[in-house]
Amino acid sequence: MLQMMGLKENQKLIKAYKINMSDIVLIQPPGWTLHPGGPHIALPLLKGFFQNKGISTKVYDLNVDVTNHYQVFISEDDVIAACKTLDPKEMNKVYFGAEDRLQKIAAQYDGTWFPHEGYRRNHCNLMSPQDIFDFSQLDSPFTNYFKNTLIPDILKQDPCLIGISITVPTQMLQVFELVRLLRKAGYSGFIALGGNIVTRLYKDLALPSVFDLVDGLVHLQGERTLFDIYSNLKNNKDLSLVPNLTWCNEGVITRNLSMTLKPSEFSAPDFSDSPQMYWGTPYLTMVAGRGCYYVKCSFCSIPFGYGEKGYIGASPAEKVVGWMQDCSKAYNISRFKFIDEALHPKIMDHKKSAKAGLKKVYLGLELIPSDGRDLLTKLDHADPLRLLSELKEAGIKTHVFCMFGFPGTGVKDAFRTVEFALKHHDLIDTLDIFPFYYARHTSVEGVIIKDDPKHTWNVEHVYEPNSPSTLHPSKVSILAEQLGNLVWKEQPQWFHPVYRMYSPWHN
Ligand code: SF4
Repeated sequence: MLQMMGLKENQKLIKAYKINMSDIVLIQPPGWTLHPGGPHIALPLLKGFFQNKGISTKVYDLNVDVTNHYQVFISEDDVIAACKTLDPKEMNKVYFGAEDRLQKIAAQYDGTWFPHEGYRRNHCNLMSPQDIFDFSQLDSPFTNYFKNTLIPDILKQDPCLIGISITVPTQMLQVFELVRLLRKAGYSGFIALGGNIVTRLYKDLALPSVFDLVDGLVHLQGERTLFDIYSNLKNNKDLSLVPNLTWCNEGVITRNLSMTLKPSEFSAPDFSDSPQMYWGTPYLTMVAGRGCYYVKCSFCSIPFGYGEKGYIGASPAEKVVGWMQDCSKAYNISRFKFIDEALHPKIMDHKKSAKAGLKKVYLGLELIPSDGRDLLTKLDHADPLRLLSELKEAGIKTHVFCMFGFPGTGVKDAFRTVEFALKHHDLIDTLDIFPFYYARHTSVEGVIIKDDPKHTWNVEHVYEPNSPSTLHPSKVSILAEQLGNLVWKEQPQWFHPVYRMYSPWHN
């Protein structure tokens, strides 16, 4: 039990929840990146799990539903035509044509809408609960769609449980607007928020004002939690034994025990509700390994999202191949993007993988080997040149992630990494340069945290150097930007979103 509070009487009573229909509705909120060519896997996985248990479930992918509603779309034909000559002007025309249209829509609501990062309302700090509550009462580019299309459709289905998955901070504002409008329209069933952001922030999200609008916060995997909520509501039982749930138990915000699923407990993803119109070359998403078996890199908060050990395990290859075959037959798509966080080198025999159809891998290089790079505690000793050459020889393309400004690493490490990449440009298909961000739930030396106490919904820390070898965050941004400009001049397609929508699938 976390804290006592006076909440409205109707929120104390589980019995008051509507349980007359057996549907579950799952929602991917709008305002996320539009770059992927396929559905995010979280909700299709949940749908597959519930359908297997005989519970009819509907998924709404509002991220693309809303942009499709506005008819802002980049098709596979568009990216193929634009990438014919790799002329940045052609790629820019396609991309910025779509971006300009989103920006025009957002400007009417005093916001910005970039396809790579999603929608933001100007002056709304997404780390501030107060800002989210205040700004979510104002109209947005999503209001009409919520009121006139989505909510009437949901009310018709009369689900007893709505699960909303929040993957990135730019979805937060829209989520709170949506739940407000759902309640205003008369929806009185159970609303649960879950997903990556809720897993990272569930303790900070557990505020009385949040529980005025929603009934549960679900951290870690949602399969068991949502199933137990659904069953307990149906059987009129209370929710004290539902794992991974924070809820309001007769006015008291209560955090239940945490647990993780075993790989054998997951179901195949069910993409039957996923829209056909994602940007660029279409593909389906797939997963085998959940979490990271390696869990060593000090800057990385990915393992935190998978529970205490950071790794749940991997589904057997035969099972995953079976899922891929079924999906391919059902949806007539044979391109798959795996979202496994880390692949053991032993599994990835380049030649066998290429023969099996592997087109592209994403490598976390961060920096080329140096004493500075050792501070990242990646503890990997592969020679990047050898690795890139072997992959090229096997016919597998590579994306290289670089990260500059980790405390203790400096300008020299960053320059040497960019020099290396440009010198061996023929071995690299695409590349990212990220400035170091201090992710919450990680621990880094050489910095001091300077978080604003009002900004409790932060997934990154504000920090200042606490050692002469740490670059100030403002210098880190400039470093990443300047080296990014240098790369853009020489290899513009490395960064170009239109090329990225095309390159894994076409030669
Ligand atoms: S950077 Fe990759 S390998 Fe390292 S801990 Fe994160 S997910 Fe694992």
